[in-house]
Order: sequence, then structure tokens, then C-alpha cells
Amino acid sequence: MPEELNPFKIAQKQLDDVAKLMNLDPKMHKFLREPMRVHEATLKVKLDNGSAKEFKAFRVQYNDARGPCKGGIRYHPDETLDTVKALSAWMTWKTAVVDIPLGGGKGGVICNPKEMSSSEIERLSREYVRAFWKVLGPDQDVPAPDVYTTPQIMAWMLDEYEKIIGKHAPAFITGKPLELGGSQGRGDATAKGVAYTIRDAMKHLKIDPKKATAAVQGYGNAGYFMAKFLKEMGVKVIAVSDSKSGILCEKGLDPEKVLNHKEQNGSVAGFPECKNVTNEQLLELPVDILVPAALENQITLKNADKIKAKLIAEAANGPTTPDADDVLYRKGVFTIPDFLANAGGVTVSYFEWVQNRYGHYWTAEEVYSKLDAIMTKAFNDVLQMSLKHKVNMRKAAYMVSVKRVADAVKLRGWA
Ligand code: NAD
Repeated sequence: MPEELNPFKIAQKQLDDVAKLMNLDPKMHKFLREPMRVHEATLKVKLDNGSAKEFKAFRVQYNDARGPCKGGIRYHPDETLDTVKALSAWMTWKTAVVDIPLGGGKGGVICNPKEMSSSEIERLSREYVRAFWKVLGPDQDVPAPDVYTTPQIMAWMLDEYEKIIGKHAPAFITGKPLELGGSQGRGDATAKGVAYTIRDAMKHLKIDPKKATAAVQGYGNAGYFMAKFLKEMGVKVIAVSDSKSGILCEKGLDPEKVLNHKEQNGSVAGFPECKNVTNEQLLELPVDILVPAALENQITLKNADKIKAKLIAEAANGPTTPDADDVLYRKGVFTIPDFLANAGGVTVSYFEWVQNRYGHYWTAEEVYSKLDAIMTKAFNDVLQMSLKHKVNMRKAAYMVSVKRVADAVKLRGWA
């Protein structure tokens, strides 16, 4: 991977830039540039054909000064330790920007779940817990779903953990099915949170939702719900995509019908009355709102100048490279950075953890109203910082978060 696209280098550069702006103490800066703990394992998993295969697995605990580490586990063939390290750093800033009492962590397994049977994935998931259970737990580090991991996988992991420790511990993992202590609203929480920040950004930018258009890259959990909530706000979603292709329909898409089509055909491609577009073309469409909801490094120096959207809401983690960020800021594109925009997922994960520890569960309405309050405050904290220091929203979000994490680290005497 070229150095400038290495997600961990990007996460470090983002911190370096903001450390300068904040005059961060050099010792603190050094401490915050690296994860506190990196755990690696090789998981040996029996395949359905009787043979065994080894999979490289990671759990990175970036910083737990503000509370137990929190972050998802990704199953992806292109997973790397540096990706997991970057994502664990972003989780640290994310829990801090929404001001919940948790730190940041992340996990990953290099595997291709699309080529594995359900029972192979179950064995892999249980093996992951057997490898890392000692460093995980409600008061240490709480995993959750991410790319290509599901509530069913969380259920297998919970079951394995409870078997090992010999008692129930639903707060061990979040994103569980409701039957096993999941929270109402968790499934669509990330997109709901992005939608609240888009609503507030549209107000700030004086964009009328009824006259606005949007494109969404990625049509998984985050992407589908994003399209649905944008439509509910009155925004016309004209393009969406998945790993195979994108579709463009000027008169607007029905997210539900697109989802049915994807479920039946394995891709959004070929959806009736639409033109197929590539993922690259989708990013450059003349829309008001662009929502990257797939993978990292989608907006780079190569295409940043061609982006026409007025507002970018980063549902995905790390979709914009730092040099592309500067181009966008100069062009006047308002970006809601990933760790602010997509913090709804971890916020409802936090609600799930709280409910599990109380043994008392909230209605979906309670969850959404608490989520709205947290996202609205976080958006405003960052917007005020951005206006006060005349920096883009990403730098402002870093300034808010890094200060909160650094204050906790300093109080503990770690740096
Ligand atoms: P998902 O597995 O449900 O969906 C991923 C989607 O991206 C799929 O539609 C896939 O086809 C598409 N995709 C994969 N490679 C692509 C490519 N090269 N170009 C275009 N599309 C591609 O995952 P998700 O949960 O929706 O996560 C998407 C992004 O949102 C990730 O960056 C993830 O880290 C971030 N995120 C998700 C959550 C959550 O709660 N689900 C929370 C925070 C952040």
C-alpha cells in the first residue's frame, strides 16, 4: 500500500496537524500517536471439508483513558494491522467527540466471509473470542459489528465468552440481536446519527432538504439506511452503489425497492429505469449531498477537485485522504468528518452496554431521542470550534476530541 494511503499514517498525520494547531504538549502528542496495546493471533479454523486454515487476527486497544475500549471487528480479505490501528485511533476520537465514557479499540480478521459457509464463520468467530477473551470484557474492551460482521456473529461471540467465564455477561459485546440483550435502534443507529448531523449541517448551510439531491456510495448497513433516512428528510437520493456497481436515476430512487433488488440479484446493478455508473462516477455526480458509506480512501487527490457536492457526510471510516481534505476545504465543500458523522453506531452501542449493565431496556423512541441529543450537541461543539478557530470540521472535531482524551490521560498521569 502506498505510504500516503496507509490509513494509520493518515490517522497519525491528522493528529499531527491538530497537535500543532492546539500546541499540544510534545510528550502527550507522542503518547497519543500510538496505540496503547496491540494484540495479534493466528486463528486455526476447521473448514467444512475437514482441512484446517489459519487466519491472522487483531485486536488493537488504542486508548482507554476515558473508559473501556470500544470498537467493532471487521472480517475483510484486505484487512491489515495498520487499518485496524487507524480504526482504533478513530474510535478513540469518536467516543470522545460524542463525550461518552469509553475509549477506542478495533478488531479485524483477514478472511473472505463471502467464500466461507455459515458454520465456518461461526467457528472463526468463536476462535477469535478464545484468542482474545482475556483482554476483552465489559470493563476492559467491548467489541461490536463492523464491515461483514453481523448480529449473529456477535451472538456466537457472546455465547463463546459466556461459556469461557461461566456466567452471563451481555455487556461483553454490542450489536447483539434483541433476543440476547441488543438495543432497540442499534441496527440503523449509525445512519440515524449521520442523518441528524446532515439535518444540522443543512440548517447551517441553508440547504433546503426538499430541493436537495444525494448520492450514497456503498449499500450495506450504513448505506441502505442512509438512503432511507435521506428520503424521509425529503432529500432526493439519485444514486447508490455497492462493490460491483453504482446506479443513477435522476427522478429519485426508492431505497426499499433497491434493497429488494440487491437481495435478489446480489447487487444494486441493473435496477430498473437506472443507468449503471461506476463508483468513481458516483462520487463526482452534481449532487448537493454525498455520503461515502463503503471503504477507506475513496476521495483522494485524484478526484477531490472533481467533487461537486456542497456537503459530504462521511458515514464510512476514512473515506477522504488528508490532502484531498485540503482541496475540498479550499473549494468550500463542507465535510462532516467520519468520527463525528458516524458516531451514532457507537453511541447506541454505548446505550446497549448501559442497558445490559442495568438489566433494564429502553424503547426505540427513548433510544432515538437520547441519540439525537448527543449527536446534536457533538455537531454543535465541533461547529463552534471550527468557526472559532477557522479550521475545517475534521480539524475542529480532532481539537474537541484530542483535548478530552488528553485531559483524561493527564489526570491519570500517563503522559
Ligand atoms: P457493510 O458490510 O454492511 O456494507 C459495506 C458496503 O460497501 C456493501 O454494500 C459493499 O458492497 C460496499 N463496498 C465494498 N467495497 C466497495 C467498493 N470498493 N466500492 C464501493 N462499495 C463497496 O458495512 P457497513 O456496516 O455499512 O460499513 C460501511 C462503512 O461504514 C465502513 O467504513 C464502516 O467502518 C463504517 N461504519 C459502520 C458502522 C455500522 O454500525 N455499521 C458504524 C460506523 C462506521
